[in-house]
Amino acid sequence: MTKAIYPGSFDPVTKGHLDIIIRSSKIMSHLTVTVLENPRKVATFDVEKRIKMLKLITGPYINVEVDYYKGLLIDYAQQQKVNIIIKGLRAISDFEFEFQMALVNQKLNPAIETLFMMTNSKYSYLSSSIVKEIAALGGDITSLVPPEVHNMIVSEFK
Ligand code: ADP
Repeated sequence: MTKAIYPGSFDPVTKGHLDIIIRSSKIMSHLTVTVLENPRKVATFDVEKRIKMLKLITGPYINVEVDYYKGLLIDYAQQQKVNIIIKGLRAISDFEFEFQMALVNQKLNPAIETLFMMTNSKYSYLSSSIVKEIAALGGDITSLVPPEVHNMIVSEFK
């Protein structure tokens, strides 16, 4: 069994997240997508909505589960007995922060490995913040978010 955790804020979920979920679920026997409460970020969507969005888009993938955790990722991975953490990597800008996080996590628990999956070139520009900015200004986010969550995201900004 190759189990992995894909953590993030998912505030809200985008096609970039879904792409990482689909590709990871193909190479892992089980994937847990975890909404991780980030004390540095004030979320726009509450945790329940983020979990609902993830459940809606991961429904078709039988080896994918959705979870929530508040605390240190490394503690969560240990509790779940999972030793692989998947992170998506977009541009150089993601690298420095993710590099630091991966090294710190390695220091905290060397048994847990962080694996980086390169973004799909179609979504390399895509982030939750961009989606929020466009939606808040009444722009069309159809091509940026999975259809199952489109209305939920739009109605948050009405
Ligand atoms: P964001 O960085 O957009 O605020 P999250 O914290 O929810 O999003 O990101 C969760 C994970 O998904 C991170 O590993 C992040 O690098 C990755 N990710 C986010 N958007 C993309 C994308 N467009 N392509 C690949 N990976 C992505």
